[in-house]
Amino acid sequence: MSASAPTKPLQATQAAAAFLPFSRPSVDEATIAGVVEVLRSGQLTTGPQARAFEAKLSEHCGGRPVRVFNSGTCTMEIALRIAGVGPGHEVITTPLSWVATSNVVLEVGARPVFVDIDPATRNIDLGRIEAAITPATRAIIPVDLGGLPVDRDRLYAIAKKHGLRVVEDAAQSFGSHWNGRRIGSFGDFVSFSFHPNKNITSIEGGALVLNDEREARLAEQYRLQGVVRTGFDGMEVELVGGKYNLTDVAARVGLGQLPHLEEFNAKRGELARVYFELLAAPAVRGLGLRLPPADFTQTNWHMFQVVLPEERLTIKRAEVMALMHAAGIGTGIHYPAIHLFALYRRLGWKPGDFPQAEYTGRNTMTIPLFPAMTRADVVRVVETLASILRGHQKS
Ligand SMILES: *Cc1c(COP(=O)(O)O)cnc(C)c1O
Repeated sequence: MSASAPTKPLQATQAAAAFLPFSRPSVDEATIAGVVEVLRSGQLTTGPQARAFEAKLSEHCGGRPVRVFNSGTCTMEIALRIAGVGPGHEVITTPLSWVATSNVVLEVGARPVFVDIDPATRNIDLGRIEAAITPATRAIIPVDLGGLPVDRDRLYAIAKKHGLRVVEDAAQSFGSHWNGRRIGSFGDFVSFSFHPNKNITSIEGGALVLNDEREARLAEQYRLQGVVRTGFDGMEVELVGGKYNLTDVAARVGLGQLPHLEEFNAKRGELARVYFELLAAPAVRGLGLRLPPADFTQTNWHMFQVVLPEERLTIKRAEVMALMHAAGIGTGIHYPAIHLFALYRRLGWKPGDFPQAEYTGRNTMTIPLFPAMTRADVVRVVETLASILRGHQKS
């Protein structure tokens, strides 16, 4: 296959009966060959590939400084440290996210303050943020669930009015837009993840978009043991850093993915349109599934998530998932409400605190959506799900 060969269709979608996962990365042959080259080069860990990945990401983000790391999680922790957030401080965020979003707040010794979601967008309810601000509040971490961006105009108006920093958890919204501008090209700190389920991957990895060179230098220090090198033999350590550098092997995967971003996201959008088309058929719509907003200008369609109507079904979500799995279709849960995890209950949260996040967290189900899927795959998912729900209606 030539270096410009299109992304190979996945084996899994070629046979009708093959298992359809809810997510699957598309890695082209040129990238695989590029990884082999890196492996043969002798330079395996952070080096020219990581720097090239940073340069390309910075271009993507309108020239803002970008640094790459070995996860998306650590980029948020580092952003909080750069912002000076620590013990005695509060950080406002959503209870409906991957637990990393609030774990990083605990990691720096601060306290997460959850604000319930807007059930329509499933993102933090911006209308409730101001009531949660106290003299201890230092930052807001909004999450673009499923790639649907939080309203950046309202978000930054609130942050500015109250002098708060923002760490955008844009792990899921790489390639999404706000009013025609790319997420990452404006705003305060912006954090991306390149986990294999995300819209582009570096296997594991993440990137942090920063505001200036001073922040970028601090990010480099936090990334690797606080070390600052000068000349041939100069080494100084000024702060406690971690071990968060991205390998060149991983960076080469990311570099091979980046040129496909637009094509991947366009394909996701097309498949999402097919979902809406099929789910709008009267016999399916009557089943009462709650759908995500049908947004085709801003979101990158990171996931397609339906919310099951628990009040109308005789089976719980786990049984729906088991029946989907038995029919050869993978599903995912993104996410259970964070404040109900044992760790968070020990810190004082309880059921009833955030009813919208709890309902969505209990009933949300991610159905398959990834670039190598076909229209026939979407048909199969909708037919299977509709038939399961039809068979388990309360009378
Ligand atoms: C994936 C993800 C993260 C964490 O990214 P990692 O690269 O796995 O550390 C954080 N927040 C959200 C919302 C995510 O989806």
